[in-house]
Order: sequence, then C-alpha cells, then structure tokens
Amino acid sequence: MSPTKIVVIGAGATGSFITHDLASRGFDVTVIEKGNIIGGTSGKFHGMLHSGARYAMNDVAAAKESITDNKVISDIAPFCIENTGGLFVALDSSDMAFQDRFEKGCAAAGIATEMVEPTRILKEEPFLSKDVKVAYRVPDKTINSFRFITSLLLTAKRESAKVYLNSQVINFIKDGTEVRGVKIKNNNGETKEINADLVINASGAWTSKLLNEKLGINSIDMILSAGTMAVINRRFTKSILNRLREPSDGDIIVPFFNDSIVGTTSFIIDDPDHFDIDKEDINFLHKSGSEMIPALADYPVYRYYAGVRPLIAAGDEKDSRKISRDFRIIDHSENDDINGIISIVGGKLSTSRLMARDIGDFITKKLGSGKSSSTDKIKLYWPDITKENIDEMSKSLSISKDILLEIINESSGKTYSDIYSGVIDFLYSRRLFS
Ligand SMILES: Cc1cc2nc3c(=O)[nH]c(=O)nc-3n(C[C@H](O)[C@H](O)[C@H](O)COP(=O)(O)OP(=O)(O)OC[C@H]3O[C@@H](n4cnc5c(N)ncnc54)[C@H](O)[C@@H]3O)c2cc1C
Repeated sequence: MSPTKIVVIGAGATGSFITHDLASRGFDVTVIEKGNIIGGTSGKFHGMLHSGARYAMNDVAAAKESITDNKVISDIAPFCIENTGGLFVALDSSDMAFQDRFEKGCAAAGIATEMVEPTRILKEEPFLSKDVKVAYRVPDKTINSFRFITSLLLTAKRESAKVYLNSQVINFIKDGTEVRGVKIKNNNGETKEINADLVINASGAWTSKLLNEKLGINSIDMILSAGTMAVINRRFTKSILNRLREPSDGDIIVPFFNDSIVGTTSFIIDDPDHFDIDKEDINFLHKSGSEMIPALADYPVYRYYAGVRPLIAAGDEKDSRKISRDFRIIDHSENDDINGIISIVGGKLSTSRLMARDIGDFITKKLGSGKSSSTDKIKLYWPDITKENIDEMSKSLSISKDILLEIINESSGKTYSDIYSGVIDFLYSRRLFS
C-alpha cells in the first residue's frame, strides 16, 4: 500500500518540524511555502531558545515544555545554538517582590536556577546596570532560525519529503465537503495541483485568512499580536538578559552574534501583510533596554523589525500578554464539517518539536497508520562549514567561498535574507528544494 499523502502549508518552524516529524514516521509529505526560508514570523522573532523561566511564574506547563525542547533541540541541532545562558535581573524593590514566585515556578517546572550576588555578576557582565540587586542564572540560549529551519527541511528531504519554496497555496482541491489537496502558484506564475489525503494548515498568522477566504471557515477566533524588536549594532553581554518581573514590554535583551536585540512590544493588528511599526515603540525599547544596560543609550538603533504572534482568543481577555502562548490543533471535520484538513495555531519556535510530535500523534491516531515520533533522537543535517574546511566545502558543495564565509561570520549590519540569499540560490541550483 502506498504511504498516505500529506501536504503541509507553511515552512516556518512549525510546518518544517511537522514535515520532518511526519516524513520520519513514513508518510509521503510535501511542504509548500509561499515565501523563502524564514519569510514568516520564524524570521522575525527574538532569537531565544527559551529555558521556560519566562513562563515559570504564570504557566508552569509551558515552562516545562520549553525546558524539555531546550534540551532536545540543543542535542539534535547544536550548529544553530549559542549557549549564552540567561540572567533574570532585579533592578529595584518592585522586581525583588517577584523573587519568591520566580524561584518556586522554576523549581516546579524543573528549570535549574542559580542565584548570583551583584558583585559577582558585575564582574562577569560589566555593562549590566550597577543597580542590580540580584541575578538568577537560567539555561536560556540563542537559536539561529535560518539554520534551524533549513536543516529541518534538508533532513526531511533526506526522509523523502518534497519541499516547494516561493510557492503559494492559492486554493484547495475540493469534492463537496472533502479537501483533496491544494492548488499552488510559484513566483514564475506557474500553477500546479497537488493531491493529498490530508492537508495540514501551519500557515501561522495567515491561518484564519486562508481558511476564511478559500474554505469559508471562520470558526477560529485568532488575535494577531505583533511585537517589535530594536537592534543595536553592539554586543554588551555574554548572556540573554531578562528583567525579573511579570512578562511585559521591553524586558529582554538578546545578544545575537555582534548585535543586541531589545524586545518586545505587543499590539493588535488586522492583516499580517500590512501593518506599521510605531517609531514610539522603538524609542520605548531603546529606553527600557538602557535600564538594564545603561551604555546602550549611547548607541543608535540601527535596525528594527516586527513579527506577528497568532494567538487564540480566550473569552473576554483583551490583554494579548495574558493570552496563552500554548498551541491548538483544530480538526475541521469536527469543528466545521470539512474533512481532510487540520490546522495548528500558536506555540513558540522553542517548542516546535513538541508541537510537531503532538500533531503527528494526532494524525497517526486519526489515520490508524504511521510510526511513533523519534524526532527527539534524529540529529538534524547541516553541512558543517568551518574556517579550516572552507576550501574543501566550497569545492564539494560548489558554492562560493564568500558565501560560506558569510555563514560562518554571520556578520552584523545585514539582515538574515541579505546574508542567506546566496545560500538559498545555491539550494535551488542544487535542486535541494523545488
Ligand atoms: C515578536 C515575537 C518574538 C518572539 N520571540 C520568540 C523567541 O524568542 N523564542 C521563541 O521560541 N518564540 C518566539 N516567538 C514565537 C515564534 O516566533 C513563533 O511561534 C514561530 O516562529 C511561529 O512559527 P510558525 O511556523 O507557526 O509561523 P511562521 O514562521 O509565520 O510560518 C508560517 C509560514 O506560512 C507561510 N504561508 C502563509 N500562507 C501561505 C500560503 N497560502 N501558502 C504557502 N505558505 C503560506 C508563511 O509565508 C510563513 O512562512 C516570538 C514571536 C513574536 C511575534
């Protein structure tokens, strides 16, 4: 019997991990991405592989999931992680009031913390504000989402998945209330139909728009919460800094290569393709970042960007910070009487492996076929390029040394897509992606 055909819409962190999970279970999977690698929110996030400490005070379940995947992803994809460590810092007496809740939450979630005295932490992190009252070390790390997603797609290709980039799902193939596949259109205007036994909608912030416009489904009440990040072209700390308080705006600084990324904000938008970034938000982030690192005030914000969180509306809650960052699997045969399509909404990049495992379990149960997930053990494929082997890699991959150097240095002053456009061209040219 030929394997069940599954189409995944969207190759962000969620769709790419689902593609790998399903392909490794033996399904015949095709993933369709309208943009390029990291074209969606997965390319416009804060860069953290969460330890879960940020969620420990309010959502122990989310904190537990984060620390689980933090360990697994570090093990299967070490080439995209920098083990910066994280610090939660209290700067005033109101921050100190959270100490007890923070310690208890982390302990309940199984997140290792270490309290560090101000004199010691200021020796390690001399740019940190001298007002620091106490700091806690946590296992936060940074993650390079381009490497992460590219390696997921390359691994899935090796498991015989098909990957279409720059190809948009423009409609569904339907037979009454049955979805039987998708119609896609690539950047050259060429169209194609792909039949499937099941379609997984992992299109992130675009989920409800796609369902509404093409299938008339409007049962998913999504709130699109955009968040802005301000980037300073200088790295001040070894560790990720978090303010020890209730999660709020402007309370995290992530050292990413040579940059410091201050974030984030939260404002509701209507359309993920068209929204403005408020200059006031940039000034606010610059100012609140300077509270943790005073020297940051002397450097300009040289770049800013915003990503969109697709959150599921919860009753009358209007404060998007208080809406759960959990994810939901929606089987439209149960909710909307449309068979053959399942959506997955919400979550975090840091827990994309668990999300993929859960939807994979849901699908194998529904279809009554497929193996169990083993993605916690499969090392992701990434061509290991170092300064030592660069000549040899350049020859064997037939890719210019300059582009490989960019990958090694991942120099600041450029956006992800500037750095990686050559790599993406290369992946096409080698027919690694369609
Ligand atoms: C401001 C901000 C900061 C964040 N920081 C962190 C962090 O530090 N750590 C963390 O773990 N998480 C963080 N998150 C959450 C994390 O970024 C997201 O949960 C994650 O990136 C979502 O991945 P996704 O694949 O669901 O969505 P996306 O990455 O948006 O992927 C969806 C994809 O679907 C594609 N698509 C849409 N429509 C179609 C169509 N019709 N046909 C084909 N393709 C289509 C889009 O182009 C897109 O690439 C942050 C989120 C925001 C907004």
